[in-house]
Amino acid sequence: MSEGFREGDFSVTPWEAKGKIDYDKLIQEFGVEKLGEELLSRIERIAGGLHPLLRRNFFFAHRDLNLVLNDYEEGRGFFLYTGRAPSNSPMHIAHIVPFIATRWFQEKFGANVYIQIPDEEKFLAKKVETLEEIEKYAVQDILNIIALGFDENKTFIFRDTEYISKLYKPAVLVARHINFSTARAVFGFDNESTIGLIFYPALQIVPTFFEKKRPLIPCGIDQDPYFRLQRDIAPRLNRYKAAEVLSKLVWGLKGPETKMSASEPDTAILLSDPPETVKRKIINAYTGGRATVEEQRRLGGVPEVCTVFHWYSVLFEDDDKKLLERYHACRTGKLLCGECKAELVERINSFLERHRARVKDAEKKMHLYLYDGKLAQEMWNWEYRP
Ligand code: SF4
Repeated sequence: MSEGFREGDFSVTPWEAKGKIDYDKLIQEFGVEKLGEELLSRIERIAGGLHPLLRRNFFFAHRDLNLVLNDYEEGRGFFLYTGRAPSNSPMHIAHIVPFIATRWFQEKFGANVYIQIPDEEKFLAKKVETLEEIEKYAVQDILNIIALGFDENKTFIFRDTEYISKLYKPAVLVARHINFSTARAVFGFDNESTIGLIFYPALQIVPTFFEKKRPLIPCGIDQDPYFRLQRDIAPRLNRYKAAEVLSKLVWGLKGPETKMSASEPDTAILLSDPPETVKRKIINAYTGGRATVEEQRRLGGVPEVCTVFHWYSVLFEDDDKKLLERYHACRTGKLLCGECKAELVERINSFLERHRARVKDAEKKMHLYLYDGKLAQEMWNWEYRP
């Protein structure tokens, strides 16, 4: 079992994505299945529609999603699992994509959602100096997640440092099945890795055993190696292998071959960015525009390589017809980058303004997701039973 894929300048592993990503190649190399027309139509029929992220093939691959739908249609149901490791910087816009998809699946399929907040991981990885630094961002991240609209009675958000007494026993059972050479290959550990970090993958697998149903994990394709390990171990613990619905990676502001990174703020829009910062970042974003207005009018732009167009298509234009109109206006030189960017700035800022209002609201009901909602209460009484 290996950590991901590397070939020439192109590499995708859980901790790094570089170069121009060939997603068809990843499907082959990772051994996942393409999320094709047939499966999408089946989801559409059951859910009564498709989220743009699915419809536009941003979620493009899967493992066992057909089995998840069988479970649903045959009344066994499934549950959703995702997570977020808090660091010492705020979440950025790409971080919310898997949560948007998770929330959509919850809404359409009425499934329980478990959200792990591994508030020790970045400390153990020595990316953050103190646990106290993480504390502030852990709370902020939880509020940002709640603000995306999860059902308070069907969602349980838990922090590892707080919920560890429930996680430890199953983690021990999992840990016995992972030897160091596999962990090193999958997670890229080396001689400098702390021993805490080496145990951490066991804790990440445990939530896939929270229910005796099939777990579905919406995540970026780069995270797939983690769950391959789960799929290897689950049958030995008499549990379901995790199903996954896998997305492409959101481009960073520097262009199609870049990723957003909170530690390099100019590559990403942070959820905490004020309007003028959003404006500055988008104005400086990489586009498919021409060097001069005259050239743009004459030759048209290239939306296929344009970060601005990418962001419209992933998050900021739900209407397919309007997206297509923008594509043609760009291609034929009717639309200039200045205008196109200004509109995106407006959309991002209005999204962030609404989001921050929902974060304020989330402060009042955070206790429901962590302790007092229906699912949270059940989970504080949960005991792992083989
Ligand atoms: Fe990109 Fe818009 Fe410029 Fe076209 S007009 S290249 S979509 S910024």
